[in-house]
Amino acid sequence: VDSWFEEKSYHKQLALRVKIKSVLHEEQSQWQKIEVLDTHALGKLLLLDGKTMVSQVDEFIYHEIMGHIPNMILPHAKKVLIIGGGDCGIVREMVKHPNLEQIDLVEIDERVVEVAKKYFPECTSGMSDPRVNLKCIDGVKFIENQKNQYDIVIIDSTDPEGFAEGLFSAEFYQKVYDSLTDEGIMMNQTENPILDEFGIEKIYHHMRSVFPIVDAFTAPMIIYPGVYWTFGFSSKKYKAAQLHPDKESWLAEQNLNLKWYNSDWHRGANKLPNLVKSKLGI
Ligand code: SAM
Repeated sequence: VDSWFEEKSYHKQLALRVKIKSVLHEEQSQWQKIEVLDTHALGKLLLLDGKTMVSQVDEFIYHEIMGHIPNMILPHAKKVLIIGGGDCGIVREMVKHPNLEQIDLVEIDERVVEVAKKYFPECTSGMSDPRVNLKCIDGVKFIENQKNQYDIVIIDSTDPEGFAEGLFSAEFYQKVYDSLTDEGIMMNQTENPILDEFGIEKIYHHMRSVFPIVDAFTAPMIIYPGVYWTFGFSSKKYKAAQLHPDKESWLAEQNLNLKWYNSDWHRGANKLPNLVKSKLGI
C-alpha cells in the first residue's frame, strides 16, 4: 500500500501531498514533534509539528537567499545573528563570506540541530567553522539585551504560532533594530502573500513601524503552502537591490557552487507585482 504524507495549510483549505518511501526519524522534543521522512519527489523532508521545514530538493533556494542578500550589500559585515534556523542551512551559506567574524545561531530546540546533523549533513556542514556559535535559547529572550551588536540579523522561524509567534511582533522588530549596527539589515521569512494565512499586511506594518527601509524578495518554495514565498528585507541605510561593487566582483571570482543566488536574480527578485506591493505597503 502506498503511504502518503499530507500537510494541510493553516486554515486547512489546501494541502501538500507527497508519497513517502520511509519514515527515518520520529521524536517528541521538549518543544515540538520532529520527523524526517524519505520521499520520492522531495528527497529527505524535515517536519516540525507536522509542518514541512526543509526538503533536499529546494532548501538551497531559501538558504542562499537569506545567506547572500545581506552579505552582498554589506561587504564589511562582521557579526551575524540567525534566530531559528536549526537545520543550519543559512549558516552553511554565511560561512562562505570571509568578512564575517562571528555567526551566532540562536535556535530554541537543540534537538532540531542534532537531527539535522544526522539526516541533512549537507545543510549542517558550516557548523564546524570556528566563527559559528550555537546557543539553544528562545530568540525572543536572547534579543532583549543586544545593543548595537550585529550587522545582519536573520529570522529563520517557523510560522507565527506558539513559541514562534513572538518573532513577528513590532516589539520584537524594535529589539532587532536596537541589536543592529547603524548599517544593519534584518531578513525574515514572511509567508505566502496570496494565500495570506497569517496576515502579511500586519507583519509588514510592524516592520515599517520600526525600520526606515522595508522591502521584500519573492521566490518559489515547493514545500510551503502555495509555493510563492516572501522574504522580508528591513534596513537602516541600504536599499534591497544596492549590491556593493566590491562584493559583486568578489562573487564573480569565487566558485561558491550556488544553485539559486546570483546578482541579476538579486536585483530582479525585489521588483514586486502589484498585489504584493499593495499588501506589503511597498
Ligand atoms: N525555513 C523554515 C520554514 O520557513 O519553515 C524554518 C526552518 S527552521 C528549522 C525554524 C526553526 O525555528 C525551528 O527549528 C524552531 O525550533 C525555531 N524557532 C521557532 N521559534 C523560535 C524562537 N522563539 N527562538 C528560537 N528559535 C525558534
